[in-house]
Amino acid sequence: MNESLTARLRIKPGQHVKLARHDPDFTGPFTNKKDAKDATKKNLDKLFELQYKMYAENKHSLLVVLQAMDTAGKDGLIRHVMTGMNPQGCHVTSFKKPSERELDQDYLWRIHQAVPAKGEVGIFNRSHYEDVLVVRVHDLVPKTVWSKRYEEINQFEHYLASTGMTIVKIFLHISKNEQKQRLQARLDDPLKHWKFSPADLGERKHWNEYMRAYEDALSKCSTPHAPWYVIPANEKWFRNYAVSQILVDTMSRLRMSWPKPTFDPKDIKIV
Ligand code: ATP
Ligand code: MG
Repeated sequence: MNESLTARLRIKPGQHVKLARHDPDFTGPFTNKKDAKDATKKNLDKLFELQYKMYAENKHSLLVVLQAMDTAGKDGLIRHVMTGMNPQGCHVTSFKKPSERELDQDYLWRIHQAVPAKGEVGIFNRSHYEDVLVVRVHDLVPKTVWSKRYEEINQFEHYLASTGMTIVKIFLHISKNEQKQRLQARLDDPLKHWKFSPADLGERKHWNEYMRAYEDALSKCSTPHAPWYVIPANEKWFRNYAVSQILVDTMSRLRMSWPKPTFDPKDIKIV
């Protein structure tokens, strides 16, 4: 059942994505928060062991790319999933507006520097996909430039995968109305004021253009070696469960094992 949820949320290579057909309120097999939270807890325990094995084996790496509109819950998701991992061997990189120095390089330069080494899990909070999202929506480079990037990104990710990296790409899908409510909650609660950014209102005005840009990125760049998943994210507890399940399924498929000792423990006597 669970593996089929993972398969259901995965975008098939060549699939033409229409986000209006993906219900952000979908909660899969769950009708309540408690059951989903219990199932997530079980997944986080599994994830802890899988990640520890990855670290010990030092053979594979996992890159988790996170993309979403503002308030969709990238931060909340990272906090939840990270509690299922050993901080040793796991790191998060947040990609903001590129610096002058970064803009003088090709757009994949800063990305490549941040990919996880063998044995590590790397989480990208935003990513190279911004270069076909915000960059496209705001005309930061001409169409002739950004339109070539889908293929460049596919080749780049294919190359990374060929080095032993497993890549999972997560789009947290919320509705425009859910974003409105979350922004309003940040205004209403003084403890949430720090989370409110007036700039988010500017981006919200471009909601439809962002949806189109996301649809293209999801349709053109979901490949067998670096699949995209569209996560219904209006319910935070389902969002956390779905991502934990996808990570457990993905890491389990690697068939990792604890490294064998290069010595026979029976031959060793500690005096
Ligand atoms: P939070 O608001 O939860 O802290 P965030 O990811 O929204 O997280 P911000 O500092 O608010 O972080 O926003 C980062 C901004 O940087 C986003 O608006 C994003 O679109 C922008 N950005 C990221 N990569 C690029 C890029 N390659 N070119 C232009 N803008 C980019
Ligand atoms: Mg922001």
